[in-house]
Amino acid sequence: MIDFVGAGPGAPDLITVRGRKLIEEADCIIYAGSLVNPQLLKYAKADCEVYNSAKMYLEEVLSVMERMEAQGKNTVRLHTGDPSLYGAVREQMDGLRERDIPFRICPGVSSFCGAAAALKTEYTLPAVSQSVIITRMEGRTAVPEREKLSALAGHGATMVLFLSSGMAEEVQKELLQGVYTEQTPCAIVYKATWEDEKVVRGTVGELCKLAKDNGINRTALIIVGDVLGDDYELSKLYDKHFTTGYRTEI
Ligand code: SAH
Repeated sequence: MIDFVGAGPGAPDLITVRGRKLIEEADCIIYAGSLVNPQLLKYAKADCEVYNSAKMYLEEVLSVMERMEAQGKNTVRLHTGDPSLYGAVREQMDGLRERDIPFRICPGVSSFCGAAAALKTEYTLPAVSQSVIITRMEGRTAVPEREKLSALAGHGATMVLFLSSGMAEEVQKELLQGVYTEQTPCAIVYKATWEDEKVVRGTVGELCKLAKDNGINRTALIIVGDVLGDDYELSKLYDKHFTTGYRTEI
Protein backbone atom coordinates (compact mmCIF):
# COMPACT_ATOMS: atom_id res chain seq x y z
CA MET A 1 0.00 0.00 0.00
CA ILE A 2 1.19 3.48 -0.82
CA ASP A 3 -0.05 6.35 1.37
CA PHE A 4 0.25 9.87 0.03
CA VAL A 5 0.44 11.96 3.20
CA GLY A 6 0.12 15.71 3.59
CA ALA A 7 2.94 16.78 5.91
CA GLY A 8 1.37 20.14 6.72
CA PRO A 9 2.91 23.56 6.15
CA GLY A 10 6.04 23.19 8.26
CA ALA A 11 5.63 22.95 12.04
CA PRO A 12 6.00 19.20 12.70
CA ASP A 13 2.99 19.09 15.03
CA LEU A 14 0.73 20.32 12.24
CA ILE A 15 0.65 16.91 10.54
CA THR A 16 -2.64 15.05 11.13
CA VAL A 17 -2.87 12.29 13.75
CA ARG A 18 -3.47 9.84 10.89
CA GLY A 19 -0.47 11.13 8.94
CA ARG A 20 1.84 10.72 11.91
CA LYS A 21 0.60 7.17 12.53
CA LEU A 22 1.26 6.28 8.89
CA ILE A 23 4.83 7.62 9.23
CA GLU A 24 5.32 5.56 12.41
CA GLU A 25 4.20 2.39 10.62
CA ALA A 26 5.98 2.97 7.29
CA ASP A 27 8.68 0.62 5.96
CA CYS A 28 9.68 3.26 3.44
CA ILE A 29 9.25 7.04 3.26
CA ILE A 30 9.77 9.11 0.15
CA TYR A 31 9.62 12.74 1.23
CA ALA A 32 9.68 16.00 -0.70
CA GLY A 33 13.00 17.19 0.71
CA SER A 34 12.74 20.75 -0.53
CA LEU A 35 9.81 21.65 1.75
CA VAL A 36 8.86 18.87 4.16
CA ASN A 37 10.20 19.46 7.68
CA PRO A 38 12.83 16.72 8.25
CA GLN A 39 11.84 16.61 11.93
CA LEU A 40 8.84 14.52 10.82
CA LEU A 41 11.25 11.72 9.90
CA LYS A 42 12.02 11.26 13.60
CA TYR A 43 8.65 9.48 13.95
CA ALA A 44 9.80 6.77 11.50
CA LYS A 45 10.90 3.27 12.55
CA ALA A 46 14.66 2.82 12.93
CA ASP A 47 14.84 0.47 9.92
CA CYS A 48 12.59 2.59 7.69
CA GLU A 49 14.11 3.24 4.24
CA VAL A 50 14.08 7.00 3.60
CA TYR A 51 14.36 8.69 0.20
CA ASN A 52 14.46 12.39 -0.64
CA SER A 53 12.37 12.89 -3.78
CA ALA A 54 13.98 16.28 -4.49
CA LYS A 55 16.85 14.27 -5.99
CA MET A 56 14.71 11.75 -7.89
CA TYR A 57 12.82 11.51 -11.18
CA LEU A 58 9.22 10.31 -11.40
CA GLU A 59 10.32 6.90 -12.71
CA GLU A 60 12.70 6.43 -9.77
CA VAL A 61 9.96 7.30 -7.27
CA LEU A 62 7.62 4.81 -8.93
CA SER A 63 10.25 2.09 -9.05
CA VAL A 64 10.95 2.44 -5.28
CA MET A 65 7.20 2.18 -4.65
CA GLU A 66 6.98 -0.87 -6.93
CA ARG A 67 9.88 -2.62 -5.20
CA MET A 68 8.39 -1.98 -1.74
CA GLU A 69 4.98 -3.22 -2.85
CA ALA A 70 6.54 -6.43 -4.27
CA GLN A 71 8.08 -7.04 -0.82
CA GLY A 72 4.71 -6.49 0.88
CA LYS A 73 5.94 -3.28 2.54
CA ASN A 74 4.16 0.03 3.25
CA THR A 75 5.37 3.22 1.63
CA VAL A 76 4.53 6.75 2.73
CA ARG A 77 4.89 9.42 0.07
CA LEU A 78 5.22 12.58 2.14
CA HIS A 79 4.19 15.81 0.42
CA THR A 80 4.27 19.35 1.78
CA GLY A 81 1.01 20.98 2.86
CA ASP A 82 -1.89 19.13 1.28
CA PRO A 83 -1.02 16.80 -1.60
CA SER A 84 -3.82 18.16 -3.81
CA LEU A 85 -2.17 21.52 -4.43
CA TYR A 86 0.88 21.79 -6.73
CA GLY A 87 1.98 18.37 -5.49
CA ALA A 88 2.56 16.57 -8.82
CA VAL A 89 0.66 13.65 -7.31
CA ARG A 90 -1.61 12.90 -10.27
CA GLU A 91 1.26 11.50 -12.36
CA GLN A 92 2.33 9.30 -9.44
CA MET A 93 -1.22 8.05 -8.86
CA ASP A 94 -1.61 7.26 -12.57
CA GLY A 95 1.74 5.39 -12.51
CA LEU A 96 0.46 3.35 -9.58
CA ARG A 97 -2.85 2.66 -11.31
CA GLU A 98 -0.94 1.39 -14.38
CA ARG A 99 1.02 -0.94 -12.11
CA ASP A 100 -2.07 -2.07 -10.16
CA ILE A 101 -0.56 -0.81 -6.90
CA PRO A 102 -3.17 0.34 -4.37
CA PHE A 103 -2.87 3.79 -2.79
CA ARG A 104 -4.67 6.12 -0.39
CA ILE A 105 -4.46 9.81 0.37
CA CYS A 106 -4.20 11.40 3.80
CA PRO A 107 -4.93 15.14 3.59
CA GLY A 108 -2.77 17.78 5.23
CA VAL A 109 -2.94 21.41 6.33
CA SER A 110 -2.07 23.43 3.26
CA SER A 111 0.35 26.33 3.56
CA PHE A 112 -2.42 28.74 2.57
CA CYS A 113 -4.16 27.81 5.82
CA GLY A 114 -0.87 28.17 7.69
CA ALA A 115 -0.52 31.64 6.16
CA ALA A 116 -4.02 32.69 7.26
CA ALA A 117 -3.07 31.64 10.80
CA ALA A 118 0.19 33.59 10.62
CA LEU A 119 -1.72 36.65 9.41
CA LYS A 120 -4.56 36.10 11.93
CA THR A 121 -6.91 36.73 9.04
CA GLU A 122 -10.16 35.33 7.59
CA TYR A 123 -10.04 34.91 3.80
CA THR A 124 -13.82 35.23 3.40
CA LEU A 125 -15.55 38.29 4.83
CA PRO A 126 -19.16 39.40 4.22
CA ALA A 127 -19.38 42.23 1.67
CA VAL A 128 -15.62 42.04 0.98
CA SER A 129 -14.89 38.68 -0.61
CA GLN A 130 -16.66 35.34 -0.49
CA SER A 131 -14.18 33.55 -2.74
CA VAL A 132 -10.54 32.56 -2.54
CA ILE A 133 -8.59 32.23 -5.77
CA ILE A 134 -5.65 29.88 -5.40
CA THR A 135 -3.28 30.33 -8.28
CA ARG A 136 0.29 30.98 -9.36
CA MET A 137 2.24 33.23 -11.67
CA GLU A 138 3.24 31.53 -14.88
CA GLY A 139 6.82 30.33 -14.70
CA ARG A 140 8.37 27.29 -16.32
CA THR A 141 5.01 25.61 -15.75
CA ALA A 142 2.46 27.05 -18.15
CA VAL A 143 -0.83 28.51 -16.90
CA PRO A 144 -3.85 28.23 -19.24
CA GLU A 145 -4.56 31.52 -21.05
CA ARG A 146 -7.99 31.96 -19.45
CA GLU A 147 -6.37 31.74 -15.99
CA LYS A 148 -3.73 34.40 -16.56
CA LEU A 149 -3.19 36.42 -13.42
CA SER A 150 -4.39 39.64 -15.04
CA ALA A 151 -7.69 37.89 -15.94
CA LEU A 152 -8.20 36.40 -12.46
CA ALA A 153 -7.38 39.80 -10.98
CA GLY A 154 -10.58 41.07 -12.61
CA HIS A 155 -12.60 39.48 -9.79
CA GLY A 156 -11.07 41.38 -6.90
CA ALA A 157 -11.55 38.29 -4.73
CA THR A 158 -9.10 37.19 -2.05
CA MET A 159 -6.14 35.71 -3.89
CA VAL A 160 -3.43 33.37 -2.67
CA LEU A 161 -0.42 32.97 -4.96
CA PHE A 162 1.77 29.91 -4.63
CA LEU A 163 5.19 29.54 -6.30
CA SER A 164 5.34 33.20 -7.28
CA SER A 165 7.34 35.19 -4.71
CA GLY A 166 10.42 35.08 -6.96
CA MET A 167 8.41 36.89 -9.65
CA ALA A 168 6.95 39.65 -7.47
CA GLU A 169 7.52 42.33 -10.09
CA GLU A 170 5.47 40.51 -12.74
CA VAL A 171 2.84 39.59 -10.12
CA GLN A 172 2.44 43.23 -9.13
CA LYS A 173 2.06 44.31 -12.79
CA GLU A 174 -0.56 41.66 -13.56
CA LEU A 175 -2.55 42.30 -10.39
CA LEU A 176 -2.82 45.99 -11.29
CA GLN A 177 -4.34 45.08 -14.66
CA GLY A 178 -7.38 43.79 -12.76
CA VAL A 179 -9.53 45.58 -10.21
CA TYR A 180 -6.93 45.65 -7.44
CA THR A 181 -5.36 49.07 -6.98
CA GLU A 182 -1.98 50.28 -5.72
CA GLN A 183 -3.69 50.63 -2.30
CA THR A 184 -5.18 47.11 -2.11
CA PRO A 185 -3.66 45.40 0.91
CA CYS A 186 -1.36 42.44 0.38
CA ALA A 187 0.99 40.28 2.43
CA ILE A 188 3.88 37.93 1.89
CA VAL A 189 4.17 35.01 4.28
CA TYR A 190 7.52 33.25 4.22
CA LYS A 191 7.74 29.74 5.72
CA ALA A 192 4.36 29.90 7.46
CA THR A 193 4.39 27.94 10.76
CA TRP A 194 8.16 27.24 10.59
CA GLU A 195 10.39 28.67 13.33
CA ASP A 196 11.78 31.24 10.89
CA GLU A 197 8.34 32.31 9.65
CA LYS A 198 8.23 35.87 8.39
CA VAL A 199 5.13 38.00 7.72
CA VAL A 200 5.35 41.14 5.64
CA ARG A 201 2.37 43.40 5.06
CA GLY A 202 1.86 46.24 2.60
CA THR A 203 -0.07 47.17 -0.52
CA VAL A 204 -0.11 45.88 -4.08
CA GLY A 205 1.67 49.05 -5.21
CA GLU A 206 4.70 48.10 -3.12
CA LEU A 207 4.57 44.31 -3.50
CA CYS A 208 7.78 43.97 -5.49
CA LYS A 209 9.68 46.24 -3.10
CA LEU A 210 8.36 44.29 -0.09
CA ALA A 211 9.68 41.03 -1.52
CA LYS A 212 13.05 42.56 -2.47
CA ASP A 213 13.62 44.51 0.76
CA ASN A 214 12.91 41.40 2.83
CA GLY A 215 14.93 39.08 0.61
CA ILE A 216 11.95 36.78 -0.03
CA ASN A 217 11.98 34.88 -3.31
CA ARG A 218 10.93 31.33 -2.36
CA THR A 219 8.90 29.24 0.11
CA ALA A 220 6.40 32.05 0.43
CA LEU A 221 2.82 32.87 -0.40
CA ILE A 222 1.52 36.19 -1.64
CA ILE A 223 -1.93 37.06 -0.31
CA VAL A 224 -3.94 39.85 -1.88
CA GLY A 225 -7.28 41.42 -1.16
CA ASP A 226 -9.39 43.74 0.93
CA VAL A 227 -9.92 41.00 3.55
CA LEU A 228 -6.51 42.13 4.80
CA GLY A 229 -8.00 45.60 5.39
CA ASP A 230 -10.25 46.87 8.14
CA ASP A 231 -13.72 47.13 6.56
CA TYR A 232 -16.31 44.34 6.54
CA GLU A 233 -19.87 43.56 7.62
CA LEU A 234 -20.75 41.38 10.59
CA SER A 235 -21.75 37.82 9.67
CA LYS A 236 -25.32 36.57 9.55
CA LEU A 237 -24.19 33.40 11.33
CA TYR A 238 -23.97 35.06 14.74
CA ASP A 239 -26.50 37.84 14.10
CA LYS A 240 -29.26 37.77 16.73
CA HIS A 241 -31.85 38.83 14.11
CA PHE A 242 -31.01 35.87 11.90
CA THR A 243 -32.24 32.30 12.44
CA THR A 244 -30.29 29.19 11.48
CA GLY A 245 -30.96 25.45 11.65
CA TYR A 246 -29.35 25.46 15.09
CA ARG A 247 -30.86 28.66 16.43
CA THR A 248 -34.48 29.18 15.44
CA GLU A 249 -35.67 31.62 18.10
CA ILE A 250 -35.09 35.32 17.69
N1 SAH B 1 1.02 21.26 -1.46
C1 SAH B 1 1.61 22.45 -0.88
C2 SAH B 1 2.14 23.40 -1.92
C3 SAH B 1 3.32 22.86 -2.70
S1 SAH B 1 3.94 23.96 -3.89
C4 SAH B 1 0.59 23.11 0.07
O1 SAH B 1 -0.55 22.65 0.16
O2 SAH B 1 0.97 24.07 0.75
C5 SAH B 1 5.24 24.78 -3.04
C6 SAH B 1 4.88 26.21 -2.76
O3 SAH B 1 3.97 26.25 -1.69
C7 SAH B 1 6.03 27.08 -2.33
O4 SAH B 1 6.74 27.60 -3.42
C8 SAH B 1 5.31 28.19 -1.59
O5 SAH B 1 4.70 29.08 -2.50
C9 SAH B 1 4.20 27.40 -0.92
N2 SAH B 1 4.55 26.98 0.44
C10 SAH B 1 4.73 25.73 0.90
N3 SAH B 1 4.95 25.74 2.24
C11 SAH B 1 4.91 27.03 2.63
C12 SAH B 1 5.00 27.69 3.88
N4 SAH B 1 5.21 27.02 5.01
N5 SAH B 1 4.88 29.04 3.90
C13 SAH B 1 4.63 29.74 2.78
N6 SAH B 1 4.52 29.16 1.57
C14 SAH B 1 4.64 27.83 1.49
